Amino acid sequence: MEANPDGTGRPPACDLCGRPGVYLDRIQNRHLCSDHFVGDVEGRVNHTIQKYVMVQPGDRLAVALSGGKDSTVLLHLLRRLLPDADLAAVTVDEGIDGYRDATLRSAGATTRGLGIEHQTLSFLDLYGKTLDEILKGQPDRACSICGILRRKALNTIARRAGASKLVTGHNLDDEAQSVLMNWLRGDRERVLRRPEENGGHGFIPRVKPLREIPEKEVALYGILKGLFVELPECPYMHSALRGEVRGILTTLERGHPGTMRRVVEGQVRLSRQLSSIPRASRPLRACERCGDPTTARLCQACRLFDPEGGPGTLVSPER
Ligand SMILES: [Zn+2]
Ligand SMILES: [Zn+2]
Repeated sequence: MEANPDGTGRPPACDLCGRPGVYLDRIQNRHLCSDHFVGDVEGRVNHTIQKYVMVQPGDRLAVALSGGKDSTVLLHLLRRLLPDADLAAVTVDEGIDGYRDATLRSAGATTRGLGIEHQTLSFLDLYGKTLDEILKGQPDRACSICGILRRKALNTIARRAGASKLVTGHNLDDEAQSVLMNWLRGDRERVLRRPEENGGHGFIPRVKPLREIPEKEVALYGILKGLFVELPECPYMHSALRGEVRGILTTLERGHPGTMRRVVEGQVRLSRQLSSIPRASRPLRACERCGDPTTARLCQACRLFDPEGGPGTLVSPER
């Protein structure tokens, strides 16, 4: 929401219709009213879906619904923009005490309100333990361990739902952070990965319709549409690197509007221009424990529980 720069106490007028503005688009330097802001976000999400051919005829879309802001907005937007699409919502219950119950209730209310089929899979069912139990004694690895286990759980539940695509609520801020983190880690594979390769490696293809919408615009869209209730934050410490990168990008975006968009678009252009460069892709095989595709003997998730130890073992073996 914007303050009134002219000192009259009135909000600045929408540059398109003259009604009270609710948002200043700093990239195009224009104020937008509620209706024009909502229409603008929907138009850009639609454009992203078309541009990356995210949805094709016959697709069944599993929408990863955590119950939080981004995924709640995503599900509403998809229902609105793709009224005839075959949608199912899938939720992973990691087993985080004092956090997940509220977001699961929110996810259930959202899908009931939209009349969309909803499936849930818990870490307890899939791995025999909750995330709280898995992380006992190693809370500092929470995000990397949870990330690996969530990825496998989402793929499993999307497959059970019969989906051809997995749709996630990653926004522009998430994407810009990931691009920068890949550079900072020197992760050549990920730096060169084209958006169309998302998922890949035998997993259900992943698409991200909000990847060009800044986090604050996703949040404002949800507020203007009345979609949110107050939800608790995840109690685990977030990845230290992502937190720092997020701070740096926020500062840069404030001083140089459009920075995050340029970071993401630059990676897309670079990856396309370099797509002919041979990449060291190791052959895929089936994980010896769970059968999921992997380049090693065990997939990343199974390596977390590997009783044989070794450098990949992050979690105590008993389960
Ligand atoms: Zn307007
Ligand atoms: Zn496995």
